[in-house]
Amino acid sequence: MDSKQFKQQLLEQLYAPYKNCTLCPLGTQGRTQVVFGEGNPDAQIIFIGEGPGAKEDQQGRPFVGRSGQLLTRTLQHLGITRETVFITNVVKCRPPNNRPPTPIESNTCKNLLLLKQIKIIRPKILCTLGSSALQSLLDQTAKITKLRGNPLQWQNITLIPTYHPAYILRNPRELPTFVQDIKTALDSLNKS
Ligand code: SF4
Repeated sequence: MDSKQFKQQLLEQLYAPYKNCTLCPLGTQGRTQVVFGEGNPDAQIIFIGEGPGAKEDQQGRPFVGRSGQLLTRTLQHLGITRETVFITNVVKCRPPNNRPPTPIESNTCKNLLLLKQIKIIRPKILCTLGSSALQSLLDQTAKITKLRGNPLQWQNITLIPTYHPAYILRNPRELPTFVQDIKTALDSLNKS
């Protein structure tokens, strides 16, 4: 068994007990399914969003709605496919009406699944998408407008924050900044 197959097996073992998780309030507030994340289990970069939206909740896959399509197109524009990276969210269950997760929900799910996913995949780069994901990994006062696009160190992994693609859909003038930040993250792979 090679490294990729081994990590895939570990990820499946991690997910299995939590497919019907109700360990935080989001488990009982109308979500259809737990959206674990997908992609290359041996990826060098993990993209981390806030939480699943309606389409993600329906399909059980992360970033498949309009925001996800923007992320996928941006990756393609920069020469990589989403199958080569790993994509997930801080919380794995859709918050009602797409409200931001509470700190309790974020912390519970982060400790239960996200930190373990990172530990299994052992990427070189983390790219957080939006304020929620950045604050969940750093601290609740971290400002995306100040930190975006700049490589930081998080537990010996390079972390590059950028905007959430949903924000870019609402503010298309920021698209070049978003693309540049993702490019910075991908370029960092070659430097690390
Ligand atoms: S968001 Fe995470 S911790 Fe909360 S119920 Fe879903 S899987 Fe469990």
